[in-house]
Formats: sequence, C-alpha cells, structure tokens
Amino acid sequence: MATPQSTARDMFRELMSTPISENIQRCFQCGTCTGICTVTPLVPEFNPRQYIHLVQTNDVDNFLKVAHAAWRCVGCYKCSQLCPRQINPAEIMEALGTLVRKRFPEKSSSNQNTINDAYHDQILANGRLNFPQLYVTSKLKTGRFMDLLSLMEIKTAMKMILSPRMAKILALGKPSGWDRVRKVLQARIDHS
Ligand code: SF4
Ligand code: SF4
Repeated sequence: MATPQSTARDMFRELMSTPISENIQRCFQCGTCTGICTVTPLVPEFNPRQYIHLVQTNDVDNFLKVAHAAWRCVGCYKCSQLCPRQINPAEIMEALGTLVRKRFPEKSSSNQNTINDAYHDQILANGRLNFPQLYVTSKLKTGRFMDLLSLMEIKTAMKMILSPRMAKILALGKPSGWDRVRKVLQARIDHS
C-alpha cells in the first residue's frame, strides 16, 4: 500500500527524471532564491532553497512537513535570474508544485490560487509588483488577517513600505507599452 513517504519518493523520482532537474545537484544552498522569492515573505513555509535541499537529499519525511506550501510559486523567475549556479529554481518549484497538486491534492486544496491571483491582478494592473500591497492583500485573501496584527508582521510590512528600492520601483509607473503587453499576458493567463 502506498504511504505518503513512498508517494513523495515517487514524486521526487519523477521530478529528477525531467530535464528541469538536471542541474539540481549543483545547488550549494546559498539561499539567494529564498532571499529574493516573492512568496516566502507571504508564506514562510515556502522556501525554495529548502525544497531543493529536500529533493537533493531525498528527505521525504521533512518534505511532508512543508509539502502543503510547495505549490505556491507564482512563476516570477526572480530566483532563476539570480541563482549563481544556473539551476533554474523557478522551473523546479513550478514542477514540484504541479506534482504536489497531482499526488497530494489534499495538501493544495485550500486557498489554492489566491496568492497567484493577487500577484496576477497586480502585475496586470500596473506592470510592476507593489510588494507591500501584495503582502497585505495575500494575508487578507487567505484569511490570515490576524497575522497582520502581530508586531513581527507590522515590522515586516513597514520595512517593505519604507524600502527605498520599493519607492523607486513604484515611481517608475507602468512600463511603456504596458497596455499592449497586458492584453497578451491576460490572454495567456486566461488560457492557462
Ligand atoms: S540560488 Fe541557486 S544555488 Fe543558491 S540555494 Fe537557490 S537554487 Fe541553490
Ligand atoms: S519563481 Fe517561484 S520560487 Fe522563484 S522567486 Fe518567484 S515565486 Fe519564488
């Protein structure tokens, strides 16, 4: 009889058999992917560096403790742009998330597309990510509004709001020609 461990082992095997994972053993756990990840501050259990380590070491027991968040990647590719080993963590996380949805549907049924939808709404509206707004919207939409009242969450949100980098990004406004790009992106999302 299949156990969660054997299902996770099969899932890792399937992931490792795809070209997406051919460089996974080159990961040296620098944590750049997690540091830049759009989702990690919203869902702390979603840690691309850790997921890659768990796959590398075939650690199914610890994977099962965080499998419920593994499908959260929004496909922004920030991690792949910065990975110093050209491992493409974005595609690994998207593939892992798809496998979790297939093999462990019970772990991905609640709030399934909430953060993705909030992310898409923002990108479609402005062509840029307003991270503090995404942070608050995601908490509200996933029913984690009480989180926002904790001192740590307030500090995190304030750090994002006051970040000079954030101010510079928002001051840029919409990218030129965004209305044309938006239509293409919307059509792609509608058919995905
Ligand atoms: S950025 Fe690349 S090398 Fe660093 S932890 Fe992530 S996947 Fe591994
Ligand atoms: S592509 Fe996924 S894993 Fe990579 S930074 Fe974006 S949300 Fe995080």
